[in-house]
Amino acid sequence: MGNGAKAQQKRERNVDKNAAKGSKSQAKVNEAAKNIVCSVCRQPFLVTTRAPALEEHSQNKHSKTMADCFPGVPK
Ligand SMILES: [Zn+2]
Repeated sequence: MGNGAKAQQKRERNVDKNAAKGSKSQAKVNEAAKNIVCSVCRQPFLVTTRAPALEEHSQNKHSKTMADCFPGVPK
């Protein structure tokens, strides 16, 4: 009898922990975060990628400007 109650408590604690971490919504955020795509080669970049890195990709890979490869991404 006591065991069942303990198990239930344990489950509730785990749920609390997951809720605090926001593990489910975090996965959604990660999915949405990959929304910069090079329009030339379709390579995906995290939305947190800094403009200099995108600029570097544009020039090194395509000899183009960032505006050519990533239109709409602010510098
Ligand atoms: Zn590219």
